[in-house]
Amino acid sequence: MSIEVKNVTKIYGRQRALDDVSFVVEPGNIVGFLGPNGAGKSTMMKIITCFIPQTSGEVKVCGFDVVDQPIDVKRQVGYLPEHNPLYLDMYVKEYLDFIGGVYKISDRKNRVKEMIDMVGLGVEQNKKIGALSKGYRQRVGLAQAMIHDPKVLILDEPTTGLDPNQLEEIRELIKQIGKEKTIMLSTHIMQEVEAICDKTIIINKGKIVADNNTQALRQQDSNLVLTVEFDKTIDQKQLLTIEGVIQVKHKSDNNWVFEVANDAVRNNIFQFAVNHGLMVLTMQKETKSLEQIFKKLTT
Ligand code: ADP
Ligand code: MG
Repeated sequence: MSIEVKNVTKIYGRQRALDDVSFVVEPGNIVGFLGPNGAGKSTMMKIITCFIPQTSGEVKVCGFDVVDQPIDVKRQVGYLPEHNPLYLDMYVKEYLDFIGGVYKISDRKNRVKEMIDMVGLGVEQNKKIGALSKGYRQRVGLAQAMIHDPKVLILDEPTTGLDPNQLEEIRELIKQIGKEKTIMLSTHIMQEVEAICDKTIIINKGKIVADNNTQALRQQDSNLVLTVEFDKTIDQKQLLTIEGVIQVKHKSDNNWVFEVANDAVRNNIFQFAVNHGLMVLTMQKETKSLEQIFKKLTT
């Protein structure tokens, strides 16, 4: 496993920021860590990257323990903090060279060049960091996080504060990087995990409330909603007799909204129509958006 978190609790003074949190991140995945503000995302990430210790529980990165083997962990992990403190007065190249020095990277000049290419900083590479847009500053942050070629990247809200174009570019870049590395990224935006993550872990008030692949999460809530249009009027009571139908609401004219137990109930509705001399003009399945699922899990 790339990351293994077992029964981790973090208490700040009296505040329980993480409460018995467990999850794993498999190699090669892009995992979204989704939760509202104050949920505990940054706290978890700081523990994984050895910046703060947990109060109890165990965290391993590539098999190394964050408390007992922090040097090994840091070698495996690249970290882009939420408010990444960059040296605004430094030039892009100078800054990356400086970070390369911290990691004692040999052949720094070439590595810095490689990083500039990898994150698409080419045109801006001769500027001071202070002169860059937020999107380009995030690229510098990503380059800094990856300069020692870690296996695992921890990105804390990497797209927060970006305009829509920059957002799109940084998401693309993260997807690209995700082909080579294991990535865990935090966000409070549902669309973000839909756009880039293989798996989503949802955290709320310090507790994990969902942990699934993004596709399965959508389907987790089993009741399906179908919108059906018949060619004639029909009595609601009769519709309720169809096997597997939980609820029926009249929408408009001959349109009805069915809540049904599962996919197979669609056949029952067709059969019912045939038996009652009706025709099904349209049948549409609504999948719950991740946004609805997120709301339900976190309120
Ligand atoms: P998120 O990143 O999901 O917004 P955080 O991990 O930053 O959440 O915070 C989780 C909870 O812990 C919040 O209630 C926050 O106020 C609290 N917290 C975070 N850091 C500290 C700290 N250094 N001291 C006390 N409380 C903290
Ligand atoms: Mg945070």
